Amino acid sequence: MTLVRFQMCIDGQWRDAQSGKTFDSLNPATAQAWAQLPDADEADVELAVQAAQRAFDSKEWRSITATARGKLLRRLGDLIAENKEHLAQLESRDNGKLIRETRGQVGYLPEFFHYTAGLADKLEGGTLPLDKPDLFAYTVHEPIGVVAGIIPWNSPLYLTAIKLAPALAAGNTIVLKPSEHASATILELARLAHEAGFPPGVVNVVTGYGPSTGAALTRHPLVRKIAFTGGAATARHVVRSSAENFAKLSLELGGKSPNIIFADADLDSAINGAVAGIYAASGQSCVAGSRLLVQDEIFDDFVERLIARAKRIRIGSPQDDASEMGPMATAQQLAVVEGLVAAAKAEGAKLHMGGKRAEVEGDGWFYEPTLFECDSNSMTIMQEEVFGPVAAVIRFKTEEEALAMANDSQFGLAAGIWTRDLGRAHRLARDVRSGIIWVNTYRAVSAMAPIGGFKNSGYGRESGIDSVLAYTELKTVWINLSTAPMPDPFVMR
Ligand code: NAP
Repeated sequence: MTLVRFQMCIDGQWRDAQSGKTFDSLNPATAQAWAQLPDADEADVELAVQAAQRAFDSKEWRSITATARGKLLRRLGDLIAENKEHLAQLESRDNGKLIRETRGQVGYLPEFFHYTAGLADKLEGGTLPLDKPDLFAYTVHEPIGVVAGIIPWNSPLYLTAIKLAPALAAGNTIVLKPSEHASATILELARLAHEAGFPPGVVNVVTGYGPSTGAALTRHPLVRKIAFTGGAATARHVVRSSAENFAKLSLELGGKSPNIIFADADLDSAINGAVAGIYAASGQSCVAGSRLLVQDEIFDDFVERLIARAKRIRIGSPQDDASEMGPMATAQQLAVVEGLVAAAKAEGAKLHMGGKRAEVEGDGWFYEPTLFECDSNSMTIMQEEVFGPVAAVIRFKTEEEALAMANDSQFGLAAGIWTRDLGRAHRLARDVRSGIIWVNTYRAVSAMAPIGGFKNSGYGRESGIDSVLAYTELKTVWINLSTAPMPDPFVMR
């Protein structure tokens, strides 16, 4: 099979790695290579960061007003809409995500750019009601400089959009490093950014491996902000890199999110919510509702009906419109899933269904929807993120018990609450320690809604009205109004 060849985007030009090295991207549905990409090393990262710094300092980018930046972002959103089928097909092929899901995600993607475009010229500073009569002061939001965007493989376009749009709205420049497993659509996005009119060097993409390309980018002294989405182990490397130059940092990490189902819930909806939470995207979602906490009275009924629904899930080619579950995106991720399933069995978790690879024609990395029943929230499968279609269900008797189990986790990214009791919904929404709470729904996303985690799920927020502020520095400007000579220089004014 002929491989599709991609080049990187540095300073508005399409380039190979200077070393000439490449790597192959595999199609998860077939385990066959389909694309070849440049393997960027330190020298390529240097070119990209220098280009981004030059663009940041350039008159061309600096003189574009915030309103005009907003218009460029709006245009980029429009171009994404015009190219949505191409982008959806490309992402599905590259990371094995269902075409029905990539169509949905790409179809909504322009909203992130349109919404953020409107924020670009609303970054107002303030005049300060100073307690010093001879002085006047005001604040200004300014761009930070070169931003490094580090993107995982599970939803590359969406996770890039929520970094790229606010970074550009605030007037920064950016170097993106997508996962080596899913770079194709990010290169296409850079092409569209140039078509939209962003000057050369404002949006750059380097492709390559995490420990080489990614590490070279995050430790680069000219990188002033790192927006990272990925796993906790990598995040620790990135935090150490950021410490070198005190780059600002946002971390969107993993989760072990509780989906809490009370006996008074609408059970049909709750079962759909449980399926959406853990089997959609084959569980490769940071907000996966991988811990199902189910009230005692309905536990057996719930488990029986969940299994019946999960067994009807159509597993197959991600490019087939009829498929409901595709493959794991990488062979490594499949191995992680298999390792954690083996650990759950060894610890005595009761396997209700799945627990093995799915039989689908070809060599793709398919895994069956899996359900373990646990009798303790401290079991490994209740505590560790799997990032695959593996749910662990546990019973609870009281609201207090459910709350204690929900919060007994290193993570705090998301939680689902299924109940018809309004007071209980609000109590738990208040008391569960997570960045996102969904009541009687799951996996809802909006350009207007911030996402991010508590505890080991990271820090910083993306999306929403404050997203652009996270890409700014606050400057305070002091003006002396007095005509008198400067007072005593040895006393603070
Ligand atoms: P990962 O292995 O941590 O990789 C994330 C990114 O970091 C990739 O681009 C990776 O490149 C790069 N990287 C690896 N080592 C690096 C290093 N030393 N320095 C700089 N960059 C490096 O995560 P993943 O397996 O791709 O994604 C799954 C994780 O992401 C899960 O934990 C999931 O929960 C989390 N996630 C969180 C959110 C959220 O919004 N909270 C959303 C989606 C995913 P390579 O892939 O090329 O190695």
